[in-house]
Amino acid sequence: MVKVGVLGLQGAVREHVRAVEASGAEAYVIKWPEELKEMDGLIIPGGESTTMRKLIDKYHFMPELKQFATEGKPIFGTCAGLILLAKEVVGYEEPHIGVMDVRVERNSFGRQRESFEADLDINGVAEDFSAVFIRAPHIVEAGENVEVLAKHNGRIVAAREGQFLGCSFHPELTEDHRLTQFFVKMVAETKEKTTV
Ligand code: GLN
Repeated sequence: MVKVGVLGLQGAVREHVRAVEASGAEAYVIKWPEELKEMDGLIIPGGESTTMRKLIDKYHFMPELKQFATEGKPIFGTCAGLILLAKEVVGYEEPHIGVMDVRVERNSFGRQRESFEADLDINGVAEDFSAVFIRAPHIVEAGENVEVLAKHNGRIVAAREGQFLGCSFHPELTEDHRLTQFFVKMVAETKEKTTV
């Protein structure tokens, strides 16, 4: 069974743990950077990206997170987690972890629509995925190796670039675990490739 860590600094950590376990992998809440070494994949939850970045710096996570990405291990960023993964964030000079070739904009769906649900067609995952958006970002621009997986109102809300998966919404807040299953499969395939 593959081991999937859930970055446990902020956000819906427990819900992600449940989704990972329901998807047939072992889930671990990651509280310290050195715990990452044992993991085959990592989920960065939603929350508030600037707060999470402060906690990443406070607990000295940044070098280990970058190392995890350099090793080719899969990372799934949901909502604020997607913002943390992006190489560019609109309005900011520097990215956070800055590994996924996308430009994201924060709080893209307007203040009056702070949270809402929408049915998405996620390529290769589900045609009828009920997605929960909470002060969600969207992908403004995606690099040439990025596969767009879903759009909402013409805006990119889910994408994959090789080892990286990102989505604007909260897949852990419903009982539909198909996107988490998709990630767990990415983790299993990557592990298989690197151990043979
Ligand atoms: N708006 C938040 C941010 O910019 C993300 C919201 C979320 O993760 N639900 O970090």
